[in-house]
Formats: sequence, structure tokens, C-alpha cells
Amino acid sequence: MSGVVGNWRVELIEAHRNLFQSSADFPRAAEGLPECGAGWRDLIDRCCVRIREALETDGGTFRFTQIKEKYASIRMYWAGRLSPEASARVEKAIDLAEARSAVTCEVCGEEGRLRGGAWLTTRCEAHSEGRPPIEHRSGLENIHLVRHFVDGRRFATCRRYDHQNDVFVDVDPASLGIEE
Ligand SMILES: [Zn+2]
Repeated sequence: MSGVVGNWRVELIEAHRNLFQSSADFPRAAEGLPECGAGWRDLIDRCCVRIREALETDGGTFRFTQIKEKYASIRMYWAGRLSPEASARVEKAIDLAEARSAVTCEVCGEEGRLRGGAWLTTRCEAHSEGRPPIEHRSGLENIHLVRHFVDGRRFATCRRYDHQNDVFVDVDPASLGIEE
């Protein structure tokens, strides 16, 4: 992941220009210009590819309004009008990017861990700056709880982010000892 400094943000936007609203003359002024480290470039790129696939079969509109780091993982916000199907695919692509950022060093793109200190970061050992990793409860690494409301009733489903394959895998909350 060397050589990722410099204009990676501009290059990324130019590679996926239809997802960003900007003046061709001033790509740096584009809305949605990623406000995060270069280590997350690859996962943003993956997300953009997935969103473009979702838009291909949809006549709707889409643009990023903000991409930033928050609480040590990525947040990607968008505006537009899409079919429910395309919208769901876009949201899933964004969820995958967020899950991936939580295990990817924001500086270099190698595998990272959540670290404490003055503020939370996701960093590899080499870029930890001495910040200690925050231990997860054993077996709960990469677990994402998704809450739903159906007919006024609340319930939760669980999924695990599979870093190797960059997919979510549904898991039974009961098997994790999580109370709904
Ligand atoms: Zn690193």
C-alpha cells in the first residue's frame, strides 16, 4: 500500500465521477471528498464499484454527500432517489465498507484493530503509536447487531463480517449469548 499519499482522493472521485457531484475543474471541491486516511481507499473503492453495479439497473439518482471517519470506522452519506431494491443494495455496500473499515488500518490498509487513547482509531500495530487495542468479548469480533421494527415490535438479527470474503454472514444471536 505504498504510494497512496498525494491525490488519492481526487483519483478516487475521478474513477467514480458519477457518484460524486463536482465541477470537473475543481475535483478537490467535490462533495463527499473522503475525510479519512489513505488506508481506507481500497474499501471506499470497493463500495463505489458495488454502488455503480446497483445503479446500472436503476434509473434513479445518487451522489455522496459526505464520507468521513467517525468512532474509528467509516461513515458514508448519500442523497438521491433510488428504487427500494437499488437503495437496499447501496445501503448494504455502505454497511460492508463500514464493517471493513473497523478491521482495516486507516493509515496503511493492513489489518487493523480498534484502539483506545484520547480518541478511538483503527490501526495496525506499526501505526498504533503505542495505543492499546480494545479487547472485544471473545467471539464477538466483527459481530454487527441489526435492529428491526416490524408491526411495532422490536427484534434484532446478528451478522458477522467475514473480512476474508468481504461479506456478511447471518448468525443466530442466541448462539452468542446476546439478549435481544
Ligand atoms: Zn497501518
